[in-house]
Parts: sequence; structure tokens; C-alpha cells
Amino acid sequence: MSTNDNINDLESVLFNEDEINSRLDELSECISKQYGKSKLTIVSIMNGSLMLTAGLISRLRIAFDLRCLNVESYYGETKSKGDVFINSKKMPDLSGRSVLIVDDIFDTGKTLKEVIKRINSECNPLEVSCFTLLKKKKQRQVNIAPDFVGFEVEDSFLVGYGLDYQGRYRNLSVIGNLKKEVIANPST
Ligand code: 5GP
Ligand code: MG
Repeated sequence: MSTNDNINDLESVLFNEDEINSRLDELSECISKQYGKSKLTIVSIMNGSLMLTAGLISRLRIAFDLRCLNVESYYGETKSKGDVFINSKKMPDLSGRSVLIVDDIFDTGKTLKEVIKRINSECNPLEVSCFTLLKKKKQRQVNIAPDFVGFEVEDSFLVGYGLDYQGRYRNLSVIGNLKKEVIANPST
């Protein structure tokens, strides 16, 4: 089975593997330069940033520590309901660390806002920045924004490279929009 076995369910591909890889080359270079002298901890938001985190850390040329947080943001079919749940009773100790939170996509911003709030109030970091592969062009109620962004995208529902629809399509090596009929009639 190829890693792109669900690719026929896409209406269009926004970013192919080469485009994602070359953008990650650029951004990882930037992050390696910026954090070269820091005590860096990458905090990866699971599950959506699994592919992104692997892609990013495999390119970094600097020392860092990796932590994962399991975060659920409740999605109706394809829209955020705005409730964010951090599935971790004990947050990591990040005293004196420069923290880079890595998430797949910046949509309403509520996930990152909540994660930043918890890290600042419970983990004692030196500083906190955020990296998202995608950022939707839209008005938001939150007063935060990612410091590093792979691509700005129109406000539509995307899958692939970690992003899922009902648990599927995370394995796609491209990012795209699902066909409307797939959203209406998801196969199992
Ligand atoms: P936010 O809290 O910024 O609204 O959304 C953050 C989370 O919602 C992301 O980490 C991601 O898991 C999910 N999300 C937001 N937009 C999309 C999208 O277009 N496609 C998918 N598959 N998930 C999304
Ligand atoms: Mg997510």
C-alpha cells in the first residue's frame, strides 16, 4: 500500500511533498540559527503535529529536548467547536527553557492560546514561541499568533501531513481539500 492510498479522496492538492519539504528546510534553518545558543524544548501538540514534528526535528542541527502534549480540540464535522482539552495531569517542568510549541495548523487560535497559558502558568519557561505549518487567513478572537508559519492558507478544511478527517488522511504526504462527497459519506 502506498502512503498516498487516500489521495483520490482529495478535491485538490494545496502543497505537495516537495513544497512541504523545501519550506521545512527553510524554517528548520531559521530555527537552528535562532535557538543555537538556547536550551530549547520543543513541545509537540499531538496528534496533528506528528508528521510535522518528525519533519522538523530531523532537520534541526542543534541540541533540543522533545515533549509531547496530547491536546484535543473538539471538532464538529469540519469546524472547531472551540473547546480545548489538554490531556495531561502533570505538565513538564520547563524551568529556564526556551519553548517552541509545534502545531499543525492555526485556525481559531484557541488551542495555542490554551497551551501557552498552561505552559506559562505551570511550567516556568524562560520564553515561549510557536510554530505552525499552516495558518488560516481569518479574523480571530485571540491575541496571539505563531512566530513561525509554513504557509498561509484560505479558510477551508484541510487534510494530510498529520491533519485528519475523522482519524483518516494523516498519512498523506501532501496537504489538500477533501471532496465534498467524501465529507458527506465518509468510508470507514
Ligand atoms: P484552533 O484551536 O486553532 O482552532 O485549531 C487547532 C486544531 O484544530 C488544530 O491543531 C487541528 O487539530 C484542528 N484543525 C483546525 N483546522 C483544521 C483543518 O483545516 N483540518 C483539520 N484536519 N484539522 C484542523
Ligand atoms: Mg491539533
